[in-house]
This record gives sequence, C-alpha cells and structure tokens, in this order.
Amino acid sequence: MKSQEPDPNYFSSSSSSSSLVSSTKWWSKETIAIVTGANKGIGFALVKRLAELGLTVILTARDVERGQRAVESLSEKGLPVNFFQLDVSDPSSIEAFVSWFKSNFAALDILVNNAGVSFNDIYKNTVEHAETVIRTNFYGAKLLTESLLPLFRRSPSKSRILNISSRLGTLSKVRNPNIKSILEDEELSEEQIERFVGLFLQSVKDGTWKSQGWPEIWTDYAVSKLALNAYTMVLAKRYEGEGISVNSYCPGFTQTSMTQGQGSHTADEAADVGARLLLLHPQQLPTAKFYIGLDPFVKSNL
Ligand code: NDP
Repeated sequence: MKSQEPDPNYFSSSSSSSSLVSSTKWWSKETIAIVTGANKGIGFALVKRLAELGLTVILTARDVERGQRAVESLSEKGLPVNFFQLDVSDPSSIEAFVSWFKSNFAALDILVNNAGVSFNDIYKNTVEHAETVIRTNFYGAKLLTESLLPLFRRSPSKSRILNISSRLGTLSKVRNPNIKSILEDEELSEEQIERFVGLFLQSVKDGTWKSQGWPEIWTDYAVSKLALNAYTMVLAKRYEGEGISVNSYCPGFTQTSMTQGQGSHTADEAADVGARLLLLHPQQLPTAKFYIGLDPFVKSNL
C-alpha cells in the first residue's frame, strides 16, 4: 500500500478543533464510537477527545481494573463514557463484547482499532513475541471489525473505521521483492494478507527471518501494521459506496508506554489529529487512505 500524505487543504483549513466543531459538526450524542485499547496512551486520549466533542463513547480495555480507572478519571472531568472489557487477541472476549454491545446500543457509527503491542525497546529488534504481536495488532483488529460490521448504521453521515497504524508498516520497508509483491497485487485479498503474515511467522519459526528481507525496524510490529494497512485497503474496497469509510492513521512518534515515553508529541496531540480525521464531514470523508499525522508537514499546516 502506498502511503497517502494528508490533504493539505483539510489540515490548513482546520486550524483548530473548535473550527471543526462549529463549521462541520454532523454528529451528536446519538453517534456511537468504540475505541479499543483505551485505558491509556493514544486510545485513552481519543476517547477523551471524542467525549469532549459530545459523542457517546465506549472505552474498552483488556484489563477491567485499568479500564475502570480510566473511566473514573474521565468521569471526574465531567466526561462520562461507557466501559466494557475487551481483549482483542481473545476471540471469546470479542464475542462477549459484541453481544453486550448489541444488547445495549441500536447501531454503531465509529470503530477505532487502536489496541496494539510491541515488545521492543526503541532501538532494539526482537521477534520473541511475534505471534502475540501479529495476533493482537492484525488479527485482533480484523476479527473485531468483522464481528461488528453487521452492526454499523451506514447512515448518510457514513460509518467510519480508523485503524491506528504506523509508517513502519509501509511497503517500502519490505526489502524482498517476492514478499512485497504479495501485497502489491491489484486484486489483493484477505487470503493473500494472511499468506504474507503466515510466511513471516514461518520464517520466525525457522530462524530465517533476518535474511529474508522483512522490515529491519521492529520487524514483527512492522509486519503486523503492513497487514493492518493492507486489510484497511481490502475492507475499504469491499465497502466502497456502501456507507462505510475505512482508513489508517499513523500518529507519528508519540510519547506513550509503547515508546517508553519518548516521542515528538503527546498522546493528546496525536488524538486531536485522529479525532479530526475521524469526524471529517461526510462529503470530505475519504476511504482507503493512509494518513501520516504530526510529521513536520502536518504540524506546519495545523
Ligand atoms: P500504549 O502502550 O500506551 O497503549 C496501547 C494500548 O493497547 C493499551 O491500552 C493496552 O492495554 C492496549 N492493548 C494491548 N494489547 C491489547 C489487547 N490484546 N486487547 C486490548 N487492548 C490491548 O501505546 P500507544 O498509545 O502508543 O499505542 C496505541 C496505538 O498507536 C497502537 O496501535 C500503536 O501501534 C500505535 N502507534 C503508536 C505510536 C507511538 O509512537 N506511540 C506510533 C505509531 C503507531 P494495557 O494497558 O492493558 O497493556
């Protein structure tokens, strides 16, 4: 998948979040948003932002205590949100969540697949936890999405899926042309994405992954995000003209637990851009785009 620079007109015309709200507000309290992995980091900041903007938000977390603490901290700020436990790497947890959602909400408008893991220190590269990384970052997002797809409202304001991804997962990071060509196929399918991921996991098992031209930085994480980006494109194509827009967003190097607090900006800043992309007016809303936020280009246009 080729990365897509943000639309300069969009960013330059939205100089503050308040201008977004006053000029293009299409949502209300009836607009329902789910955010995964939202007890901390970018997910938590996104929930906060969406709640501030007046949507009904469901904060999910794999750990009930951590999730409830996050909900309480928002409640203390006057931002009530809903909570349910959700471990995206566990199909039975996804099933329980979807069943709870169905009995409590009429329909879904927005899904943010944010939950993610990396077991790497910033300048290290280990594939020791490759299976968990792929299961969480790619299969978790995919299974949850597929389970929720029938529940999207698909109103004229359009339903939205935003996959929180990474520029480490761009095709240019894959150095082996044979592997790369799998994802370059014009008729890319979910089966091909799973084949790509399967080849990687096999090379980890064989101990050959270092010599096979996989991405060099945070290899397992990069492969998981390559697969997520490819899935974004396949899904966007499947729902083109059907009332669901599907995009990916790389928040840039953000100060969270994943980066051991390092980064060029805060989770709130990353979430602010994420919320703007999510809440684009239906007529401006793209599909199948990979946005890279908070790089110098975007910063200078915000
Ligand atoms: P954090 O580590 O702060 O947050 C990750 C969140 O995901 C936590 O809430 C974590 O829960 C949750 N999580 C992990 N595994 C699961 C699971 N199996 N089920 C449900 N939730 C889970 O990292 P960030 O906020 O930085 O990461 C958010 C997203 O942004 C990720 O997808 C990441 O890949 C992406 N990203 C981050 C960048 C950065 O520089 N920070 C850059 C590019 C992309 P718990 O607290 O229980 O571990």
